[in-house]
Amino acid sequence: MSRYRLLPSTAQEVVLRDHCAHARFVWNLAVEQQSWWRPGRAGAPGYLEQCRQLTAARVEHDWLRAGSQMVQQQALRDFAQAMANFFVGTHRRPSWRKAGRDEGFRVVAVKPGQVRRLNRNIGMVRAPKVGWVRFRWSRVVPAVRSYRVTQDRIGRWHVAFAAVPEPIPAPGTGGVVGVDRGVVVSAALSTGELLMVPRLSPGRERRLQRLQRLQRRLSRARRGSARRARVKLAIARLRARDAGTRKDWAEKTSTDLARRFDVIRVENLHVKGMTRSAKGTTDAPGRNVGAKAGLNREIMRSGWGLLVHRLEDKAQGRVEKINPAFTSQRCSACGRVDGKSRKSQASFQCTACGFACNADVNAAKNIAAGHAVTARGRSGSPGRMNCEPQLALPPA
Ligand SMILES: [Zn+2]
Repeated sequence: MSRYRLLPSTAQEVVLRDHCAHARFVWNLAVEQQSWWRPGRAGAPGYLEQCRQLTAARVEHDWLRAGSQMVQQQALRDFAQAMANFFVGTHRRPSWRKAGRDEGFRVVAVKPGQVRRLNRNIGMVRAPKVGWVRFRWSRVVPAVRSYRVTQDRIGRWHVAFAAVPEPIPAPGTGGVVGVDRGVVVSAALSTGELLMVPRLSPGRERRLQRLQRLQRRLSRARRGSARRARVKLAIARLRARDAGTRKDWAEKTSTDLARRFDVIRVENLHVKGMTRSAKGTTDAPGRNVGAKAGLNREIMRSGWGLLVHRLEDKAQGRVEKINPAFTSQRCSACGRVDGKSRKSQASFQCTACGFACNADVNAAKNIAAGHAVTARGRSGSPGRMNCEPQLALPPA
């Protein structure tokens, strides 16, 4: 994402503010619907159902109909993505957007001619119902597929262009790899390779924890204190550097996998994220329990999410999502499913054929084989089945 200062005219600002209000309204409606959901009830409406509701609401309300349908629909899509990120465990649950604080909207399906340069310092971008809006051409603008317009708390407008990474051609060897989100390592490949997201160094982790403790203490102090501002800045710097390292890792790893394999199979985390809990899942009871709590686990999760996003960009149409049920209990050699084969977090030894392997690699091999075992209707599986709602996400 690269961000540029947007320079709308006064008349254009009125329309931009309307777009923001519509996007916020639609988003908050989706948050409210989601908040009504309780275990045991039918699922909250998914993206497609919400789009139908939006169409109905536009017929009823003039002020909504006067706005851009794309802006409003995109707010729903963003919300669906935010819920998906929440279920995967990489992001917080999406919450209410407040007027004057979280103002913004997204425009998609941007055509090549819709962003152009006017002169050395000024560019123009075409926005729905607004027309050409000027922005400061402060650096190179990438090839754009979508952008987001935001207004900050002091009223400044920005436009952020999302660059599209170049797809990497398949090697054409017919090679298939399975990638498992591990507990002990970040990702295990069916080839036996174990990948690690760079973690915070122990020193840096201690420093961050100390700063966070300090921040909590200072939050009770005077709001505008200079010391508090310094601590906040130090935390932001540490986090930004750490995020940069993780991003590099995801870029390199996704490029490497897209180059080496024709088909890359990963767990369908929309399912897995929902069935995972600290208490354990039907798939692997307590699989998460022993995982190291705190910062580094968070890092592993977000590194994984980033990796899958990047893979989908670079290996377009070559990433397959596999139902993760039983991948950690199934023997990749003989196919026997038995919870007892999982000797520990790290080791797998089949109770039937004796095949022994790193537990994450065994799971990755099952993912590579693409065994779409259904969670329901299989006998002998321990514990109760999950009954969480399924988020209906159409393929983007
Ligand atoms: Zn076996």
